[in-house]
Amino acid sequence: MSKYAEQILNLIQSSREHLTAEQIYFRLKQSCPKLVLATVYNNLNQLHRQNRIRKISVEGRPERYDRTDRHDHLVCVRCGRLSGLRLPDLTAQLQAQLSEEILSYDLKINCICPDCMTKETENQL
Ligand SMILES: [Zn+2]
Ligand SMILES: [Zn+2]
Repeated sequence: MSKYAEQILNLIQSSREHLTAEQIYFRLKQSCPKLVLATVYNNLNQLHRQNRIRKISVEGRPERYDRTDRHDHLVCVRCGRLSGLRLPDLTAQLQAQLSEEILSYDLKINCICPDCMTKETENQL
């Protein structure tokens, strides 16, 4: 694994922030001034193909990258805020209804986050 791939992987696996490629780039740029954004994208794609990181897509937002340990996500439909949460593992329940073997599943729960909810309530006053 390249030096950059290792640093990117470490950053993602230790982060709870669901970073975008640009955020990862700006963080690593501090210690690697020669780094270019294309390198970050190439390494992210490679790490994703190797199943070492997860990619989280929300329509209309940049892709975010995530650690692989099992957890679920809450997504704010207004501002796109993404937060992790750990719900019971549903694999067995889902598996009971399928003939194909489940490799993994992604659960994204759409909601309106407290900040956006406050704004909407204020706008209605
Ligand atoms: Zn929000
Ligand atoms: Zn996550």
